[in-house]
Amino acid sequence: MIIVLKPDASKEQITLFKESLKDKYNVSVNTWIGVESTVLGLIGDTTQVDEDWVNAQEVVENIKRVQEPYKKANRKFHPDNTVIELPTGQKIGDGNLCIMAGPCSVENEEQINYVAQRVKAAGASFLRGGAFKPRTSPYSFQGLKSEGLDLLKGARKVTGLPIVTEIMRVAHIDMFEGVDIIQVGARNMQNFELLKELGKIDKPILLKRGLANTIEEWLMSAEYIMAGGNNKVILCERGIRTYETATRNTLDLSAVPVIKKLSHLPVIVDPSHATGKSWLVPQMAMAAVASGADGLMIEVHNDPKHALSDGAQSLTPDQFDDVAKKVFALKKAYDEIMK
Ligand code: PEP
Ligand code: MN
Repeated sequence: MIIVLKPDASKEQITLFKESLKDKYNVSVNTWIGVESTVLGLIGDTTQVDEDWVNAQEVVENIKRVQEPYKKANRKFHPDNTVIELPTGQKIGDGNLCIMAGPCSVENEEQINYVAQRVKAAGASFLRGGAFKPRTSPYSFQGLKSEGLDLLKGARKVTGLPIVTEIMRVAHIDMFEGVDIIQVGARNMQNFELLKELGKIDKPILLKRGLANTIEEWLMSAEYIMAGGNNKVILCERGIRTYETATRNTLDLSAVPVIKKLSHLPVIVDPSHATGKSWLVPQMAMAAVASGADGLMIEVHNDPKHALSDGAQSLTPDQFDDVAKKVFALKKAYDEIMK
């Protein structure tokens, strides 16, 4: 971190400021005295340095970070890829293409069991399904809640597929005990109290990118979970808000290689929420594979026209069969090319 001091800062003020930096943050400080102003270079772990505090000091003109503000999620401090392994053996981030598929919302037993069987047969290794739904309108279907969680567990029993489902409240963490991967949705990416509590549990967390968040903010949210001791974080790119209206969101596929460069955490792509249109899902799923993603999350519904949420972006099981075939074939070719 570089701190430029004001031209009129006195020698005494500079000495005092340097001492307080050393005491507060346990860093060493290099000093360059220029003609116009003095510049300080902080050396050591600057992740703890509070930029607001530094900026608020009278002697400070401006500051610039030269190191990322996240540490546990940073590849610099953890060069090897993180591989997340479930007690049931499924791995995410080990080079395989993992597919999480299922309906936006769990609607009833017949629906979830049928979709679970179909996505498993097509090659998905996780069943997704929302029990608590974050809907824009309070009058839209809000999910089956705890009954939905029970239905997901039932579908897991039938198929053996581990389940991924979204949490919205800290108070629900105990209720999610039997869930295999807890999803934090885009709307809660910066629910810091929720992230802190999820940092205390020993369960993989699927952290979706916020609707309008930068990659750095997303990694800082991962850092919140990891700072609490839970290193099992999977990132999910699901499209961001832009001025484009032809699609529900804009799928930022460059986020995948950027994340891979900056972080060791696995990253998957959700082309369903990114596009909002089922006809766009196959092409974007394939593009996600070519971007180097560790997996995909795809919405599949037995009867999209009558789905209680996100029907327009949901694939039928038959369409999913076709996409799964294509993405696995593409992944094989991709691995060959990238060897
Ligand atoms: C979902 O996965 O159903 C969902 C609500 O996703 P997102 O948080 O990405 O909108
Ligand atoms: Mn959805």
